[in-house]
Amino acid sequence: MCILYPLQGMNVCDRAKMSTVQNPAKTLGDPPGLHPMSTTMPTSNPDTVYLQLALQQARAAASLGEVPVGAVIVSPSGKVLGQGCNRTVSAQDPCAHAEILALRAAARTIGNHRLEGCTLYVTLEPCAMCSGALLHARIARAVYAVPDPKTGAAGSVLNLFANSALNHQTRCEAYAPKDASGHTLQAACTEVLQEFFRKRRMAQQDLRRTPLHAPLREDALRPSETHFAGIHALETLRPWCGFVQLSDPEEEPGSMPWRMHVIDTAPDDRSRPAVLLLHGYASYSLLWAGLIAQLHTAGWRVLAPDLLGHGRSDMPKKTQRHRPVWHAALLRQWLQQAHFSQHVRRTAILHDNAALLWSSLAAGLHDVPPTPVIHLHPEGVATWRQHCQQRTRFDLDAHWALDAAEAASGAWSAPWPDAGHRAALQWPEWAAVAQAFAQHGTIDTAVADAQVIRIPASGAAFRRWLQQHGPDLARILDQFVAST
Ligand SMILES: [Zn+2]
Repeated sequence: MCILYPLQGMNVCDRAKMSTVQNPAKTLGDPPGLHPMSTTMPTSNPDTVYLQLALQQARAAASLGEVPVGAVIVSPSGKVLGQGCNRTVSAQDPCAHAEILALRAAARTIGNHRLEGCTLYVTLEPCAMCSGALLHARIARAVYAVPDPKTGAAGSVLNLFANSALNHQTRCEAYAPKDASGHTLQAACTEVLQEFFRKRRMAQQDLRRTPLHAPLREDALRPSETHFAGIHALETLRPWCGFVQLSDPEEEPGSMPWRMHVIDTAPDDRSRPAVLLLHGYASYSLLWAGLIAQLHTAGWRVLAPDLLGHGRSDMPKKTQRHRPVWHAALLRQWLQQAHFSQHVRRTAILHDNAALLWSSLAAGLHDVPPTPVIHLHPEGVATWRQHCQQRTRFDLDAHWALDAAEAASGAWSAPWPDAGHRAALQWPEWAAVAQAFAQHGTIDTAVADAQVIRIPASGAAFRRWLQQHGPDLARILDQFVAST
């Protein structure tokens, strides 16, 4: 008999072949209808072993975005009969708590709605609904790893198990670790919950701080947030991410603003030196993921926008919007809001064609003394630039990803799901710039006094370069600000 093992594409039979559990209560017989499903796993405390299985279920719930609670039901002879993890959101079912799903699975396994003599292990104290279900199912014993001060019905808020008037009694107890591995397990059950709620609070702060759902202009598209979900490097940046609204520099005041996605690692800390990281062609702030954390840890305030038409920022539908002066004016608006120029020590790294924006941007910031900049200048980009210009559907993941797994994650094509989103990849200036590249091999003149560093033209090669030379860049930045 095989039932579906939730979420991991395994069934209980497969699972039983892998995880084997020693009989924790040999004096009790199995209820009729039980079939052996697991054998032995060495342990001094069976409660720890079964709670570890419950914790695996809790982690599976977390990966689904569900409150991470997991439950396991074990027969009197120690066989795992059913497991479940919280699925209320994904199943659109308010009753789909881990305990309920585990009860259903176990009842199917033995072909009986009564689970006489069985034990339920759950990572969080059961609520009133689940406690009632455990009593109805005739569960003999329930063990929970962590108390729930908000809805716990085994003593924290109320105690359903203490009512002697009920016709069936279930013994419900808090898990008591007996050794180091037990304490570790209990800490892990707490940690998985804390981590989940910490992330959720952060996401809610994001929403409050930023106009995620700001109205969208008619002449713009907006990449779906779902395309960016699960991109690991972006998750690490999330605490620093936000959106700002910027008015169009070429329109009357009061017109519908553009929404720009920005990273700012220390918005309120003017004592840190500030560094602006400007991505270049067909890229976005993801480019800097490793460097941002590195510089922030080293004491910098790091600012990194997604230019409009890139990353998670709004995307003008018309290619003609994309002119360097227009981008520079929008960036200037944001940098003024962010008080960038108030940092006495400040600098910038310009990748590729971001150099085209710099002179007009810096002039508007009344940048005195001038901000020292590094220009990362790709070698021999003209050819592929022209190629990209002509083929709007070129494969961005193939260009930027470091390996096949990253390419498959779609991290680099996420902002540009279809041709309609790709206006930014066809700036009119590109033709002229590409020609200048071809003729002079440089656009250095766009940035007076920049320290030019040659980088590989291929996206993936440049990212490898960046991993390797991140510390060198940090050192140059340090020298810049030391001299100011
Ligand atoms: Zn419950």
